[in-house]
Amino acid sequence: MAHETQTEGIVLRRWYAGEYDKWVSFLTPEYGKLRLRVRGARKPKSKMGMLTEPLNLLKTRVIEGKVQRLIAQPQLVRSYVRLRSDLELLSVALALCETLDRWLPDEHAEPEAYATLIIALEALEAGVPVEQAAAWALWRWLAVLGYCPDVERCGKCGAEFEFIGGDADAAKLPRVASASSPTVAQLFPAEGWLLCPRCAPPRDGVPITSDELKLLQKSLPGGRPSWDTRPEACRNLMLAALRYAECVLESPLRWLEFWERLSALRERG
Ligand SMILES: [Zn+2]
Repeated sequence: MAHETQTEGIVLRRWYAGEYDKWVSFLTPEYGKLRLRVRGARKPKSKMGMLTEPLNLLKTRVIEGKVQRLIAQPQLVRSYVRLRSDLELLSVALALCETLDRWLPDEHAEPEAYATLIIALEALEAGVPVEQAAAWALWRWLAVLGYCPDVERCGKCGAEFEFIGGDADAAKLPRVASASSPTVAQLFPAEGWLLCPRCAPPRDGVPITSDELKLLQKSLPGGRPSWDTRPEACRNLMLAALRYAECVLESPLRWLEFWERLSALRERG
């Protein structure tokens, strides 16, 4: 990196340094995740402090010092106002940021992982249901970062996953909730496997239904997601991806636990 660079990126996380400063984990498309110091960010009414909070998309100068890098003259590009006004949306958005912050190594460019985060945040901001945006982002990250299991064939015997009846048959049937569509594969997060019913030990894995597998096969090759899928089909996929991500990260995600507690509270009314 040059002595001074102009770049755009999003603040994933912040923590404090000394009496007046803070550090931010700043994700950029071209330099990857950078650890940057923000001078004077904790002084009362500091504009720098407000601009460099998590979930802010910034254009900024990055100055390469002898022992650390500094943020200088950040400009706000996007602040995701709607996400901040709803506790559930905020906790999911921060869970996505936390996942990437912990998943990505420092200073290694992953432009697709960056683009995925931005698309997911924009979708949440635009009112796409939480399960859809989060499921898409998490599976996309698994694919981009090289952890995604083969979604076409069984990881053990190599047989193509079988759907009960073809698409033509399925179209004639009344639409049913995804929970009642048959299980066609099981995901084993620790091994990174998706297995067919013949190879999977009974009930050990995360069950994936035919609806969910079709969704994965359709949305993983790349490009932008379609948001017209039913949220129920996405919820299980999202939870499966999260269990998988937790295995990769080797510990639970703090914001995710918070969000799960919040959802449980809401469901109980
Ligand atoms: Zn198999």
